Amino acid sequence: MRRISAEYIFTGKEILKRGIIDLNEKGEITKVTDTGGKISERQSLEFYNGVIVPGFINTHCHLELSHMKGMIDNKTVKGLPGFIDEIISKRNFPENLQEQIQKADKEMQMKGIVAVGDISNTGDSFTIKKNSSIYYQTFIEAFTVNTEKVNETFEQSERNFHKLKQMNLSCSIVPHAAYTVPDKLYKMISGFKNEKYKIISVHNQETPSEDDLVKNKTGALAEVLKKKGFNLKDFSYPGNSALETNLYYLNQKDNILLIHNTFSKKTDIEFAEQFSENIYWVFCPLSNLYIEQTLPNIPLFFKKGVKTCIGTDSYASNTELSILSELKAIVKNYPEIPFEQLVKSATVNGAKALKIDNKFGSIEPGKIPGINLISKFDYNKMTLSPDSSIKVLA
Ligand SMILES: [Zn+2]
Repeated sequence: MRRISAEYIFTGKEILKRGIIDLNEKGEITKVTDTGGKISERQSLEFYNGVIVPGFINTHCHLELSHMKGMIDNKTVKGLPGFIDEIISKRNFPENLQEQIQKADKEMQMKGIVAVGDISNTGDSFTIKKNSSIYYQTFIEAFTVNTEKVNETFEQSERNFHKLKQMNLSCSIVPHAAYTVPDKLYKMISGFKNEKYKIISVHNQETPSEDDLVKNKTGALAEVLKKKGFNLKDFSYPGNSALETNLYYLNQKDNILLIHNTFSKKTDIEFAEQFSENIYWVFCPLSNLYIEQTLPNIPLFFKKGVKTCIGTDSYASNTELSILSELKAIVKNYPEIPFEQLVKSATVNGAKALKIDNKFGSIEPGKIPGINLISKFDYNKMTLSPDSSIKVLA
């Protein structure tokens, strides 16, 4: 039994000034008390100078790229087309890959991440995920260069799917992006019925030439794909944007995690929200700054009141795997977004996106969300400071 308190508790749903959290030895919340800011009895209470937030949900990562830190030089490679060119030629499978994946998993635990939506193209990360204290939803990601390879690609994804199911790990087969999945493969992915409603993740509108490619099969991204052997004749790209292509194929009732959205416009947001109420907009700001040197219009999404989430992406395009650092990047660039909204994006919204909000995402009785303490908080502005740091309390 522990009783924990701090200057503020952001439960994921509300803010409590000097509230008290009771939890048992399993980390399960047994009681949350709103003290109205006045703590009368301090005995057996752990009081912290800082703010408490629930364990973070990282909705986009690629653990199996954990060895690629610094391999793609973002001073010379500018933009996603160049990045894709490099990642296809530089991706390797070194002997110490398992060690690197293990380190990345441990780093996320240390930084208060309790659940991850993680992309896998191979089975390299499966055993580490199985043995981790982090909850993983694996997105088995499929793409291919032409229709001749569609069956082979899908069979490989199915094999990984069954392997993960045997290991008792949650997973789904997902498309990589609108531009790398031929019509036939996209239909196989969407039609794969393992459960009533699935969780789908897809990279969306990460670079401006993605929409050019979908509309006219031209632009920087089209050039790189052709160079890499993609036969663009096999890609039909229905719709007027990469977003429309994705939604053309995806099922309305599935949870749809759209990743990046760096170049999504107001009309795209409206189009997607009209299509389904299960859209989750995932932002990976540090990866966007690394690859495209720009950020999505994040305040616009908050203004629209849509469901926003946070991801770290991978070491191929980031220097750390920390949700706190992603939030700091947002605060630095968009200080007008209330911190409470950012906490929701990093916790309860992510938990809903991954369908684990029965256990994670908010500090409420009956849940085991993980408890993080953020120190060096800016109480004047009620948001993160550049020096804010994180410590896992439970
Ligand atoms: Zn990614």
